Amino acid sequence: MDPFEDTLRRLREAFGAGRTRPAEFRTEQLQALSRFLQDNKKLLQDALAQDLHKLTKLGSAFIRKEPYGLVLIIAPWNYPLNLTLMPLVGAIAAGNCVVLKPSEISKGAEKVLAEVLPRYLDQSCFAVVLGGPEETGRLLEHKFDYILFTGSPRVGKIIMTAAAKHLTPVTLELGGKNPCYVDDNCDPQTVANRVTWFRYFNAGQTCVAPDYVLCTPETQERLLPALQSAITRFYGEDPRTSPDLGRIINQKHFQRLQALLRCGRVAIGGQSDESQRYIAPTVLVDVQEAEPVMQEEIFGPILPIMTVGSLDEAIAFINRREKPLALYAFSNNNQVVKQLLERTSSGSFGGNEGFIYLTLSSLPLGGVGHSGMGKYHGKFSFDTFSHHRACLLAPPGLEKLNEPRYPPYNERTQQLISWALSFPTCTLL
Ligand code: NAD
Repeated sequence: MDPFEDTLRRLREAFGAGRTRPAEFRTEQLQALSRFLQDNKKLLQDALAQDLHKLTKLGSAFIRKEPYGLVLIIAPWNYPLNLTLMPLVGAIAAGNCVVLKPSEISKGAEKVLAEVLPRYLDQSCFAVVLGGPEETGRLLEHKFDYILFTGSPRVGKIIMTAAAKHLTPVTLELGGKNPCYVDDNCDPQTVANRVTWFRYFNAGQTCVAPDYVLCTPETQERLLPALQSAITRFYGEDPRTSPDLGRIINQKHFQRLQALLRCGRVAIGGQSDESQRYIAPTVLVDVQEAEPVMQEEIFGPILPIMTVGSLDEAIAFINRREKPLALYAFSNNNQVVKQLLERTSSGSFGGNEGFIYLTLSSLPLGGVGHSGMGKYHGKFSFDTFSHHRACLLAPPGLEKLNEPRYPPYNERTQQLISWALSFPTCTLL
């Protein structure tokens, strides 16, 4: 018998039903909390007296953003410069020393970062270290003051476990399967252009790329010729000869993707060439949810289409899976886009748009749940790599003002304290 089960289920059900979302609900609950404090002042005072025998002022309160100290940045291979240098900028701006661990898989970038970058930075503060899983495991035995990891959820768990041994805070920028809902009410060619662009960019090796499309069978039939048309327009009749289509990073990933091509039925593309690590922009249909292509992050130029009967069914499908890093919704109807936004959760959201939001420094990049924790980009990077230290500086004199806080307490001092507490900027006990 688990004493928490019922309570946790009840709360999860309420959250799932959207109880806590409306602004009115939040206001009501905060007002109720305020009433609790007002109505039960005496009760609470007695309780505090019983537990702790326990009662701040003119001065200046401020947040001091301080560097954590020694930061470790671990990066993946798919955007090997961007995903090392973007966090590095934030860590330097916030005043930290940094150990940078690029991916051992993107060997070209790893070599330049290790051999050339240190010539530009103060080597007493910044170091690039090399290695794969084993070396990184040894590196993680050391204490760091902050770790920002970008990579898979599997390795994210290893990083967090290692960080926990030193109580080191982490930002985990992870991956997963990003849904892309396409509504019946849409212009199929516009949707196909946008989806083709952001699915096959970098040969699909992008963490925020749409991993699969969700639509009705009717929309699938309208979308397929439009996707074929967009793929031909962007990459030509033979995409293998296109200078704009990337290649798969290595043989291991090529073999993994080859296996995924056997799921469902190939509707578009499907060709591959192992000698070039080439896989054509591919669309799969008749895919089952239990098949590997719907179980693991694809991270390649393959786009399965899963058919659903309705918007509600699509939302239920999304919500019974792990929270994705990104979620996309295409519709001519704003209400449909809004519903997707309100009834789901994801690290980021694109309404009738791909991952171009990544270029906006006003927006953070970060996952939620299984797709990660924490965020960076722009000002968020500075905040991520800074400890927000709460500070209060009081004047050394004016001791008279402190008298009411010192015991023994009486009716008058309690009234004075209650009055002082009614000012939100007043420094409290
Ligand atoms: P990965 O998790 O295999 O490797 C990432 C880093 O971890 C590499 O530097 C690697 O050397 C290190 N590493 C690997 N195994 C380790 C271990 N056992 N112990 C310690 N360190 C280890 O990821 P990847 O294959 O390089 O990148 C692909 C993944 O990254 C995808 O899941 C993708 O979605 C995700 N990703 C996320 C973002 C984001 O911003 N959220 C961006 C790019 C990629």
